[in-house]
Amino acid sequence: MSVRVRYAPSPTGNQHIGGVRTALINYLFAKSQGGQFILRLEDTDRARYAPEYVQNLYDTFKWLGFYWDEGPDVGGPSAPYVQSERFDLYKKYAEDLVRMDKAYYCFCDSERIEKLRQAQIAEKKDEIGYDRHCRNLSAEERARKLAEGKGYVIRLKIPLDGVTRFRDHLLGEIEWKNEDISPDPILLKSDGFPTYHLANVIDDHLMGITHVMRAQEWIPSAPLHKIMYDAFGWDMPELCHLPMVLGQDGHKLSKRHGATAVNEFRKAGYLPEALINYIALLGCSYEDGRDIYSLDELVSLFKLEKLNKSPAVFDYQKLEWFNGQYIRQMSDAQLASLLRSYLVDAGLRPQNDPRSDNMELAAMPLVKERLKFLCDAPSIMAYLYKRLEMPAIETYIPKKADAATAAALLGECATLLEQYGLEDIPSIEDRFRARAVEMGKKLGDLLMPLRVAITYTKVSPPLFESMKILGLDESLGRIDAAIRHLKGA
Ligand code: GLU
Ligand code: ZN
Repeated sequence: MSVRVRYAPSPTGNQHIGGVRTALINYLFAKSQGGQFILRLEDTDRARYAPEYVQNLYDTFKWLGFYWDEGPDVGGPSAPYVQSERFDLYKKYAEDLVRMDKAYYCFCDSERIEKLRQAQIAEKKDEIGYDRHCRNLSAEERARKLAEGKGYVIRLKIPLDGVTRFRDHLLGEIEWKNEDISPDPILLKSDGFPTYHLANVIDDHLMGITHVMRAQEWIPSAPLHKIMYDAFGWDMPELCHLPMVLGQDGHKLSKRHGATAVNEFRKAGYLPEALINYIALLGCSYEDGRDIYSLDELVSLFKLEKLNKSPAVFDYQKLEWFNGQYIRQMSDAQLASLLRSYLVDAGLRPQNDPRSDNMELAAMPLVKERLKFLCDAPSIMAYLYKRLEMPAIETYIPKKADAATAAALLGECATLLEQYGLEDIPSIEDRFRARAVEMGKKLGDLLMPLRVAITYTKVSPPLFESMKILGLDESLGRIDAAIRHLKGA
């Protein structure tokens, strides 16, 4: 039987790291088995649903670059893939369970349920939950209430004793005492809407899902689902609950630790490839000790056995490192085209401008090593587009020197540049080195005021290459401006 797995998010928030990891593991498993990866929208919680979360879901995965084979937007043989479009189906199956005596109508109104809850709290009962009041209503009582037009929910009959067993691929055999399962959970609400449990089990069955891979926080639902699969006489898909993703303090990863929403990483200038690579390695060991894997390589190497049982710790610094690696791996043309929107947004260049395109292409070797995030590009590259505000005079002055010396050093630099030009960088560097020796100076001291004059900072991309991109005239103009600045003119 061909593998079919699904990612089944509830569109009640933006996509975050935890969800993407669940989706990615499902995807890698499906593709490594030649199977299908399905998206199903579990939008039964209408109060917390918002259409922008669905849009965010699509945008996120398009940006990440791995996508489902079947889903609401791409269609497929198990359509519709949105639970709110399948409501009639759930009702029918819930009624089937009632007929099979595996579920029952509960006519308790919310007032009674609330009173019950208050009483349980007052009595300090460990178990807060439904008291199974309607489980044993006689057929007559039931018929009477229905005839009266009383509203009802449908509840699942959890066996009163015994245990429920199931196997989890990672965690092995799991045994759950039935008395520890929430007493008779609601499957169908009074408005005819299904709960998560009902819709999830029916859809996994009808969509032919072979493996359910989801976060470990869903384990408590598994015994309940097992009871439902047994009640319907269906096979339960194989379960594989994924270890949690924690922050470095050992708590579940959350906003307190930093960005968790994927669009925040995207805005901050992370590359999708870096994010995917890092997330794939979270709690998953690939033997050969390598770090950098393409999506295709991850697919070909993926095995469920490689997943760790213990929680994974999300390390923001490690992710940063991955991002830097991916930036350096890119070709100049690729990187330049990715940076374009950041440079346009920073007002450094117009959208369509071949001159800027050419300049940026030439500048890529200078900035590639320095970029950790795409969004760093405008601040690193601004000096290549325009003159910036000149820093305070001290910035230009080498140790144990004064403003007049710095201005004189700049004068020397200008003379050398006028004489030898910028065509051949190694040879002009030699000229500067030789001149520094003649002057009894260190090359660093000669170049320091020049670097500030050209780039406006003491730490910058390579200096001679920068001047070459700016051109001789502009470089000399900046030197001249700096000299006047130093002389207080
Ligand atoms: N809708 C659930 C969620 O939001 C799906 C859990 C599952 O995969 O069964 O994560
Ligand atoms: Zn009841």
